[in-house]
Amino acid sequence: MSYIGGGMYHAEPCPLCGRTLWNGRCENPDCHYHWHPKEDEEDEDDS
Ligand SMILES: [Zn+2]
Repeated sequence: MSYIGGGMYHAEPCPLCGRTLWNGRCENPDCHYHWHPKEDEEDEDDS
């Protein structure tokens, strides 16, 4: 895990609609990932 925090948003192309995913959430409100963000990083479990 090397990209936690830092204030930068993680952007990547949406695999469904081709727009931009911001931290796993698509900018396109018609897209599945807008409402159900792709979560690569889960809540940190304090272990
Ligand atoms: Zn999308």
